[in-house]
Amino acid sequence: MLDIKIVKTTKPKEKPKKDHPLGFGKIFTDHMFIMNYTEGKGWHDPRVVPFDNLSLSPAAMVFHYGQEMFEGLKAYKTEDGKTLLFRPEMNAKRANNTNKRLCIPEIKEEDFVQAIKTVVKVDEDWIPTAPGTSLYIRPFIIATDEFLGVNPSKTYLFIIILSPSGAYYESGLAPVGIWIEDEYVRAVRGGIGEAKTGGNYAASLAAQVKAHDEGFSQVLWLDGVERKYIEEVGAMNIFFKIDGVVVTPQLNGSILPGVTRDSVIALCKSWGLTVEERKISIDEIYDAYKTGKLEEVWGTGTAAVISPVGKFRWKDEVMTIQDGKIGELSQKIYDTITGIQLGKVTDTMNWTIEVK
Ligand SMILES: *Cc1c(COP(=O)(O)O)cnc(C)c1O
Repeated sequence: MLDIKIVKTTKPKEKPKKDHPLGFGKIFTDHMFIMNYTEGKGWHDPRVVPFDNLSLSPAAMVFHYGQEMFEGLKAYKTEDGKTLLFRPEMNAKRANNTNKRLCIPEIKEEDFVQAIKTVVKVDEDWIPTAPGTSLYIRPFIIATDEFLGVNPSKTYLFIIILSPSGAYYESGLAPVGIWIEDEYVRAVRGGIGEAKTGGNYAASLAAQVKAHDEGFSQVLWLDGVERKYIEEVGAMNIFFKIDGVVVTPQLNGSILPGVTRDSVIALCKSWGLTVEERKISIDEIYDAYKTGKLEEVWGTGTAAVISPVGKFRWKDEVMTIQDGKIGELSQKIYDTITGIQLGKVTDTMNWTIEVK
């Protein structure tokens, strides 16, 4: 158990109006959680303080070699006023896998979840309630030693900030266009693809900009060696329904293991669908498309939950899926997961926990 000190702001900010379009990750609440790490002392001084700028040395290691990690999850307000989190222990576990890969000191899972619950409770009034909205939670750790040498830092900050957010895509559940990238790669086995860390995103920007310039909103990455097997999309895992079977790339060390991915697999299995986690080549997808067997494609991630894919661009071809409309299964998964998150659908999987 952490002994978390709470210092409340004396200047609360004005909350967004009920019908204000929140966007994603643009507005921040009144408070944040901070905890320090010092070698020899461990994690110490957990506290909730007013949201404010940080003061760091320009030589702080995070600015130079990118030793940092992050997580992402959401808090939801139910109709009867409860605050729910969705599978936060999965984020705590994944955080420590990322930490191990990046030589960042681990945080006990129960401490990680306690820190989230505590700061969410303090800013509970910031959780928006309009349809499709939630409070996005962003825990992250940065290396803070003032040192330009390359080695793991001896000091860190663990911070949690909160952002009331609307639907991730301005177009809502409308299907997105995806660019299948055949020049740049995101990650290779043995690299940091399965860690949730800024470096993966820095590496993705050039392809993202290219895709945007061509009128596509996201990039689908192929494997870094053969550029043949499907990995994942920007900040989402990817699923296909081919001839009645749900197929998603197997976790192979270069794919981020999404909490939403895990939840979608469990739900589909519970509905009696066949789910295959395996290698999927781009040729297989193209064949399925040509023979009319590519029934649905969707991305999964905390921010958007489900993001139907309406079209793929692959070299000089554009494949249109489901006439660019959302598929039946994609819609059912979206309704079920968001229903569980909002306390409207019975949580038979025991996925939500209440913040009290
Ligand atoms: C966070 C993330 C995902 C989705 O994970 P969720 O836990 O479902 O939000 C997928 N891919 C990448 C690269 C990510 O960073």
